[in-house]
Amino acid sequence: MSAYTRADLAALDQSDPLAVHRDQFDVPDGVYYLDGNSLGVLPRQTPARVEQAVREEWGKGLVRSWNTAGWYELPRRLGDKIGKLIGAAAGQVVVADSTSINLFKLLSAALRLRPDRRVILSTRDNFPTDLYMAQGLIALLGDRHELRLVDDEAILGAIDDQTAVVMVTHVNYRTGRMHNMAATTQRAHQHGALMLWDLCHSAGAMPVDLDGVGADFAVGCGYKYLNGGPGAPAFLYVSQRHQPEFSQPLSGWMGHAHPFTFDWQYQPAEGIARYLCGTQPVLSMTALDCGVDTLLAADLNDVRAKSLRMTDLFIELVEQRCAGHDLTLVTPRPRDQRGSQICLSHPDGYPIMQALIAHGVIGDFRAPDIIRFGVTPLYLRYVDIWDAVDILATILNTRAWDVPEFKQRAAVT
Ligand SMILES: *Cc1c(COP(=O)(O)O)cnc(C)c1O
Repeated sequence: MSAYTRADLAALDQSDPLAVHRDQFDVPDGVYYLDGNSLGVLPRQTPARVEQAVREEWGKGLVRSWNTAGWYELPRRLGDKIGKLIGAAAGQVVVADSTSINLFKLLSAALRLRPDRRVILSTRDNFPTDLYMAQGLIALLGDRHELRLVDDEAILGAIDDQTAVVMVTHVNYRTGRMHNMAATTQRAHQHGALMLWDLCHSAGAMPVDLDGVGADFAVGCGYKYLNGGPGAPAFLYVSQRHQPEFSQPLSGWMGHAHPFTFDWQYQPAEGIARYLCGTQPVLSMTALDCGVDTLLAADLNDVRAKSLRMTDLFIELVEQRCAGHDLTLVTPRPRDQRGSQICLSHPDGYPIMQALIAHGVIGDFRAPDIIRFGVTPLYLRYVDIWDAVDILATILNTRAWDVPEFKQRAAVT
């Protein structure tokens, strides 16, 4: 393995077809931002667009803007735009609520479609909210269902004829491990189970083909790779073939067939709109719209190619420069099992990450011992990977992390 120099990486930036996209973002000076998988960077057009929504649409248009500024259609219009990033034809994605709430809606809907089955199958290391929402739903339904958890590697073999719905996060938040979407969906269907994908760490990070693999349901986040801003609304996908058959239990008026007839009796809207609940946050959705545009401006195949090249480089550089420091690569090496992040475990992961952040390398820490670096090819340069590993090597060599101030745990890690 030949050792890289910083100049090699600068040369890659010179010939990078995505390099122009960095200008779509307001990346702060002196920051190596490797946490776009937790909160994406602010797109340059967002402040002006949100200000216009505040001053013009709200300030001057007032309530008329529900009709004149397209507020009412926004959840569906934006859903169709996100659909283009995740391989969903129009009319199957809607933007609403949070990922947690959308999981509740879709799991409920899925269980209703499989009334004779009792098992929600998921992975032990799934993001906790996915598991918590399933537990809450099971309790609400009278504890007649079981949340069955297996290791990531065991999911295919664990699907059987008792499985009502398989709920898997495409890319594991803690390890960066990526599941085979086509094979898992196919196995679920072979056993008559439904497939629910959580795309929080894949929507906007790589091409996803929900329609192509025949997925039944999906959810995903607006504030991670979609650059929608803190607390941006989430999205959900329901395959066209399931839409007429059933509805979800959070039957609010915005999911009604005719909200403005103010009928006393709930009647679900046709199509994906029945997955809406109440009035949606227009300003947050406006910011999300800008974030989604940053991805629609690029080709997700290019994004994926650059992401893999960057994570390959990250691994190689860590192995060259940080050997002998007790770092263990957690993210799978095979490219077809790797999402868009690099996770390393280290017994002193927490203070090491705090030291990195103090030196401008912003990643995050996931208990118990993982330092996590998200790779977002639209605004990261290859030299950023070089510099980040360079700073990591210095921090490890000098033990700059080994001071009390970096060991104090904050509320959000
Ligand atoms: C980030 C993330 C969530 C977040 O859910 P919220 O309801 O937005 O807080 C859910 N699931 C996974 C897999 C995530 O990575």
